[in-house]
Amino acid sequence: MGERLLGHTVLVVGAGSMPSPEPDAPVGNGRAISVACAREGARVVCADRDETSARVTASLVRDVGGEATVVVADVSDEDGCAEMVAAARDLTGVVCNAGIGRGAGGLIGTSADDWDATLAVNLRGPFLIARLAMPLLTVGGSFVFIGSLAGLQPGSRLPAYDASKAGLIGLSRHVALEGARQGVRSNVVAPGLIDTPLGRAATRGRPTRGRTLVPLGRQGTAWEVAAVTVFLLSDEASYITGTTLSVDGGLGLI
Ligand code: NAD
Repeated sequence: MGERLLGHTVLVVGAGSMPSPEPDAPVGNGRAISVACAREGARVVCADRDETSARVTASLVRDVGGEATVVVADVSDEDGCAEMVAAARDLTGVVCNAGIGRGAGGLIGTSADDWDATLAVNLRGPFLIARLAMPLLTVGGSFVFIGSLAGLQPGSRLPAYDASKAGLIGLSRHVALEGARQGVRSNVVAPGLIDTPLGRAATRGRPTRGRTLVPLGRQGTAWEVAAVTVFLLSDEASYITGTTLSVDGGLGLI
């Protein structure tokens, strides 16, 4: 066990992992982030709309000696966001990880409902969470928003997804500036191609995704996303705010 988040309470929104038919499926980002935070001494509030999945994450947190609370709620629902934030006593860190992609691809393949559903989870939810959590955070508190390389350059072929992830960067910059007055930081982690159940599902839907040539020669793991998230939540990142850190194996270079 490390001690980088000792005494911290971290709310992870989207702490579960998409169910997978593969027995050896890798974990999703939110699950890895929850376990990695616990390994560094944090209490973790595991919030997800999928109760079974949130409970699995909570038990993995306990397996590494951590303390976990489960909240079953939907981040696209304002009351759900309030339940998530209310469940965390002595909150010090917030990770907004829940993310979805909707639509068949391209502008024509994206309905107004696809757009609204994507923005509700990927951008409106994080805004609501930030608005509720900010007054509870004190010096050393921090937000980490899980964005995507698709928020920095066109990537997913889902315009709602790309736009929501670009919007998250704007939200985080605002949160960083507003939070600075009270010593609270905010940053975005922008993963590239990560081998998670959701990533594999995306590749099944668009096989060219799996053939993408990544400069470092492979897809990333959720643990690599989690390591950067833990760093940004910790005091080691005490002078980093308003930034976007890509975890993409160099994919953003090409
Ligand atoms: P995942 O599906 O395994 O995990 C996401 C979790 O969020 C799931 O447990 C899901 O139940 C939960 N969730 C979804 N909608 C929710 C809602 N409305 N309310 C509450 N919980 C909800 O996915 P993942 O691959 O680990 O991705 C996590 C994040 O990382 C997403 O924001 C995604 O956009 C981002 N990301 C992933 C990749 C990748 O290649 N996997 C790349 C870039 C960015």
